Amino acid sequence: MTTIRQQIIALLEEDDHDAREISQLVSISEKDVYAHITHIGKTVSTKGKKLVIIPSSCLVCGYTFKQRNRPGRPGKCPRCKSERITNPRFSIR
Ligand SMILES: [Zn+2]
Repeated sequence: MTTIRQQIIALLEEDDHDAREISQLVSISEKDVYAHITHIGKTVSTKGKKLVIIPSSCLVCGYTFKQRNRPGRPGKCPRCKSERITNPRFSIR
């Protein structure tokens, strides 16, 4: 049986995805995706691979968020206060 986590790893090895795409592909909530992602980062590092987080950016002013320790989505742009922010994307290389 393939676990959810293995399915997510397989998806991210193939292509990069954001949490919403992953949540739809494996039928779990976005919140659960972020919880799995944290563990996946540790799992893949033991296999010599790396979880790559493509950071969120602001759609209004183009501000790019620094890579954060938690993989969640920031709420607001610190530069222009816009809430139109892209989801971070994940990939395994
Ligand atoms: Zn902004």
